[in-house]
Amino acid sequence: MDTHRLRNLDRPDILRAKLEREGVQRTTLSFYRYVRLKEVETLRHELYQEWVALGVLGRVYISQEGINAQVSLPTANLAAFRAHLDRREAFADVPWKIAVEDDGKSFLKLAIKVKKKIVADGLADDAFDVTDVGEHLDAATFNRKMEEGALVVDMRNNYECLIGHFEGAYLPKADTFRGAIEEVVDMLRSRPAQGPDQGARSVDTPGRPDTAPEILLYCTGGIRCEKASAYLKHEGFTNVAQLHGGIIDYARQLKAEGLESKYKGQNFVFDERLAERITDDVVSTCMQCGTKSDRISNCHEATCNMLLVQCEACAAKYADCCSPSCREIHQLPIEQQRAWRKGRSTRSTKTKAVNDPEGLRRRIREEEELLALNGTLHPELTTLIP
Ligand SMILES: [Zn+2]
Ligand SMILES: [Zn+2]
Repeated sequence: MDTHRLRNLDRPDILRAKLEREGVQRTTLSFYRYVRLKEVETLRHELYQEWVALGVLGRVYISQEGINAQVSLPTANLAAFRAHLDRREAFADVPWKIAVEDDGKSFLKLAIKVKKKIVADGLADDAFDVTDVGEHLDAATFNRKMEEGALVVDMRNNYECLIGHFEGAYLPKADTFRGAIEEVVDMLRSRPAQGPDQGARSVDTPGRPDTAPEILLYCTGGIRCEKASAYLKHEGFTNVAQLHGGIIDYARQLKAEGLESKYKGQNFVFDERLAERITDDVVSTCMQCGTKSDRISNCHEATCNMLLVQCEACAAKYADCCSPSCREIHQLPIEQQRAWRKGRSTRSTKTKAVNDPEGLRRRIREEEELLALNGTLHPELTTLIP
């Protein structure tokens, strides 16, 4: 088999034009499963051929521990795709989560990657029982337990919480999954008189239950909470539950059952859309001017690509960039941009968000002053201009 043909190497603009021309209705969906897979490379090539034939686009990770897929496909092929999955024992009946707000243009090509793990979590799996997971809750039960005073913890990346989260949820600040789960353990242990390890202590805690509050975990699609809940149970927290199917399925259940959303704002997603709206609440502010906004964007200067919350006015003012410095480069003729970029790495493969908006605003003020003074923030540009 010529495996070189089993990937798409077209340029993004060509792919986008192709997708625009296609004119068929697409559905975006995601699924994952922790399951032992054998001969992963061969499986990858088989899946690629089958799925390309069905017009599937998206990003898929497979590993010996399972599959994690975010795809879009022609709505007319949904049944055929389901049949293809069910035919394989490992993927039979794997639950789908269909994106709510969707124009079907989420992905430009199909990429199936063989990985060590389907989620890069940095945890040593052999150190604890990854199958001893927290109870799965549906949306209605999750809502009820929140009302009963359960402690809600967001297990997504810190930047994903910026533009939406469950009301009152604990939002870890750590940059990695491992850092976040350790931060959560510390937070839970340091909660006064409610720590799960403090047994049935009731002295000095009038009105508080003797037992620890229930811990409710959630993430985008549910997959991180499988690991996170098993880890917390391993750490001695017994009362741990997780939102089944994550925010994506929560949103679907809200619609289907007419439930009230306790998730406020937008859900960050890993495709071209960046976010899907769950409620009209705006829970964040523009990182550049501080007005209420939940418009998330990447800095358009390619070597920066920093993720930020940026209002429309600031997007216009800074030409979709994070700072005057990036704006100056971004507004150069393309040839000069290329010359400037030479030797600099692009950030396009990483997702990093501005984590100090105050610092960003300070930098912008300083840069504007310098710009007014010198006419440029990049004196090195003069050597690039012929
Ligand atoms: Zn702004
Ligand atoms: Zn930038």
